[in-house]
Amino acid sequence: MHEDIEEILVTQEQIKAKVKELGHQITQDYQGKNLLLLGILKGAIPFIADLSRAIDMLHEIDYMAVSSYGNATQSSGVVRILKDLEGPIDQKHVLIVEDIVDSGLTLHYMLDLLRQRHPLSLRVCTLLYKERERAKPLELAYIGFRIPNLFVVGYGLDYAQRYRNLPYVGVLKPEVYQNNQKPERQHKSPAESS
Ligand code: 5GP
Ligand code: MG
Ligand code: MG
Repeated sequence: MHEDIEEILVTQEQIKAKVKELGHQITQDYQGKNLLLLGILKGAIPFIADLSRAIDMLHEIDYMAVSSYGNATQSSGVVRILKDLEGPIDQKHVLIVEDIVDSGLTLHYMLDLLRQRHPLSLRVCTLLYKERERAKPLELAYIGFRIPNLFVVGYGLDYAQRYRNLPYVGVLKPEVYQNNQKPERQHKSPAESS
């Protein structure tokens, strides 16, 4: 375990088993369909790389990079597109692959935007889902793990762009934040891509 980590919430072994299970489920659900996995950069990179290889049928992968507008502590739900898809999706079944759903506002915005491009279907697979109150309910087809409402890092998730390479999901020690911005503020910064 890395010295900056206070507690591991989801282990490498748990992630591995869950990715296998999700890949199997997705393979069954999308059999014979033109599937596009849509990874949201940068947090979803390790997840989509593992999930894609756990899906036992041909499919495409593309990415979008988005940045949340809004004040420091709360995501406004208005999103700026930093990198868009390579092509149209009207002949594709799109499965959005996310690292984590917190407020869900980013995802709501993405879903509204992508629906206007008329994909054959549009669903979401998130590795992590925070147990918390939400302004708008969200329909999530696949959820890896439900976690408490804490700021987490690892397996793609960053604090100040670091810790993405940790093979597990964990909580940072409080002293890591000392003389630094709080992570709640840091990860909502409009300047930073999620
Ligand atoms: P939401 O719009 O659902 O509030 O969150 C959007 C993005 O903020 C997520 O996709 C993720 O990139 C980032 N985020 C939310 N919660 C966490 C967290 O606990 N840790 C980290 N590192 N990023 C988070
Ligand atoms: Mg994300
Ligand atoms: Mg981030």
